[in-house]
Amino acid sequence: MFRINENFLNLKEGYLFAEVARRRAAYEAAHPGADIISLGIGDVTLPLAPAVVSALAEASAMMGRAETFRGYGDYEGEAFLRGAVARYYNERGVDVGADEIFISDGAKSDIGNILDILGADNAVAIPDPVYPVYVDTNVMAGRRVVFLAANEGNGFLPMPGDGLLADVIYICSPNNPTGAVYNREQLAAWVDYANERGALILFDAAYEAFVRDADLPRSIFEVPGARDCAIEFCSLSKTAGFTGTRCGYTVVPRGLERGGVSLKKLWYRRQSTKYNGTSWIIQRGAAAVFTPEGREQTAANIDYYMGNAAVVADSLRRLGIWFTGGVNSPYIWLKCPGGDSWAFFDRLLAEANVVGTPGAGFGANGEGFLRLTAFGNRENVARAAWRIEKLLGAAA
Ligand code: PLP
Repeated sequence: MFRINENFLNLKEGYLFAEVARRRAAYEAAHPGADIISLGIGDVTLPLAPAVVSALAEASAMMGRAETFRGYGDYEGEAFLRGAVARYYNERGVDVGADEIFISDGAKSDIGNILDILGADNAVAIPDPVYPVYVDTNVMAGRRVVFLAANEGNGFLPMPGDGLLADVIYICSPNNPTGAVYNREQLAAWVDYANERGALILFDAAYEAFVRDADLPRSIFEVPGARDCAIEFCSLSKTAGFTGTRCGYTVVPRGLERGGVSLKKLWYRRQSTKYNGTSWIIQRGAAAVFTPEGREQTAANIDYYMGNAAVVADSLRRLGIWFTGGVNSPYIWLKCPGGDSWAFFDRLLAEANVVGTPGAGFGANGEGFLRLTAFGNRENVARAAWRIEKLLGAAA
């Protein structure tokens, strides 16, 4: 008789976005024609940059000609794209080589799959609240998880404390859902902790392109010592609107090892066994992101989203509401007046016709907070911010 992986039974129901959609639909059914604006969306809305679109079209045409047709590619990704990514790091003075970069169909896959190369008995530390994939992939694999409490007191940036016994530590900066960003000293403290304990940092830099403050790190490898203890995951999803196009990359330093075994070799072995490479067409499109035109065009889209974030942040400042994010991040994480995050969600929906995402859905410490995102249309974002100001300003 076969058996299922019973660890799946330990997963919590992923009901957050379904519940948000259910409550919104129920409100709309009761109030037909209500002009609801969603600031809950975690997906990009602007189209791909023209430089990317033409690279994709050209690559598709090449696939249709015998002389330029491509079959299977390199498991770790094409040299032209790995080189472009390495230069993207190097021009910021970050030491990453093309041989350390693995191209994939996005950060989510790599973040989940990396667990294949790590022992089952590692003690795993995960911030709370955070991107749910870290917890769920560890629960599926039956690993022990300890939570790092992120809260108003530490600005939603937990630090290594006395008594923390972690072998693997997840760090997401800029953070989803809180928008909080670690500074250099804070990341250095984590790197020191990891190197002293022989722990591994899994650094999720999916939102690095939103960091505008030159003093804030966009890569863990900007911190001395990180090459001995960290793997970094990056994505073109939010950087360049690739959520539907799919491309990301993971950096595994060539010297990173445990017991004389190279993690880069293990990851190559894992990828070459279970992954047959990222679409060549998509990799051509991804390479266009790193050209001068691609950079300029994608930066303009990020500017647009950051302009949205500033509109919301300005309103919250005027209201005197505590929040993290809004600068250096497309997320704004605000303290709910009244405390309860689902009750505040319902109030915003009913009285301002604005949809957010209740913080409780991102972990126990998310209770009392609400996530707003900057990925919408400017006019709608401005209208939503005005409605929030009107509602909460009147109440104050
Ligand atoms: N990491 C974080 C923190 C995210 O918020 C997301 C997507 O929302 C991802 C990774 C996944 O990115 P990708 O689309 O490349 O799989």
